[in-house]
Amino acid sequence: MPRVLVACSFSGEGISVMRKAGLEVDYRPSITQEEFDRIYHEYDAVVVRGNVRVKPVAPGGSLRVVVRAGSGLDNIAVAELDRIGVKVYNTPDAVAESVGELAVALMLSLARGVVRSASALSRGEWIKHGVLGAELMGKTLGIIGFGRIGRVVARIARGIGMKILVYDVLKFATEDLAEYGAEQVSLEELLARSDFVTIHVPLKEDTRLLIGERELSMMKPTAYLINTSRGGVVDEQALKKALREGRIAGAALDVFSEEPPRDLELLSIPNLVATPHIGSQTREAQERASLEAARILVEELTGRRPSRAT
Ligand code: NAD
Repeated sequence: MPRVLVACSFSGEGISVMRKAGLEVDYRPSITQEEFDRIYHEYDAVVVRGNVRVKPVAPGGSLRVVVRAGSGLDNIAVAELDRIGVKVYNTPDAVAESVGELAVALMLSLARGVVRSASALSRGEWIKHGVLGAELMGKTLGIIGFGRIGRVVARIARGIGMKILVYDVLKFATEDLAEYGAEQVSLEELLARSDFVTIHVPLKEDTRLLIGERELSMMKPTAYLINTSRGGVVDEQALKKALREGRIAGAALDVFSEEPPRDLELLSIPNLVATPHIGSQTREAQERASLEAARILVEELTGRRPSRAT
């Protein structure tokens, strides 16, 4: 019987789908990196989220499949695993809506000072006259990375009445952009024209520190930056400086170069809204990611399509 290590939180229905298909499931949602490193090569397959790093295993072990229940593969040594015949999957479609909705929530929070005024009120301070926000309708939103999540943001922002600019390494067809009322421009033009800039690229060599001092200096002083992609994409030191010196109006970060972040100086900047990597933390995204991961594992390990759990 093929053995699966589920090394992350996972839905009960996802576990039932695998067990019903004849897989032996070892569910260890609170596993530490140390424990994981010690045992994962003994299984036929492992499922993780961003909680542990998956390094290459020695050839000859039983590991055949690694599934990231969620998006991003930056915690998995994909190329090395591929070289030794271990297949790697993720489930990016399952979480895109939730991450896109969070980016919009952060944009609204920045525009209306929601976090600043709510935390002042929780201390008993009524700062109504110190909070003069801005509407999103009619403003320009720059979307860096027009993939699954970028498009969710574009769909919602269009409904709010924002103008949409897109920067991506891929060149999109006019009809594709027209569906979202979007215009594709260079990174420089996007930064110069946008009132809000939201980042949705994967973390790779060419996106590491994509937004640094030079790029921040191209933004309007009234503009806001939102990053729900990966921490390494934004240069945090340069962002800290830009926020301190008022070179941009504010920023929201759901992701950090080190998680949890230890840079309390960054986290305590008043015009920064920071959330603890909650982009795909919704019931819907977690359920979809679990079921999709279970489906992949059943197909890979049994060669059969799974039936739904009953
Ligand atoms: P996707 O692959 O559908 O889209 C990414 C887009 O970025 C693609 O259109 C690609 O062409 C573009 N791109 C790649 N390199 C680029 C570059 N150098 N410059 C400009 N564009 C570039 O990915 P997605 O599903 O939309 O996810 C985007 C990222 O969001 C993920 O890779 C992940 O890092 C992050 N994410 C974060 C959370 C969270 O909890 N905050 C959850 C899921 C995903």
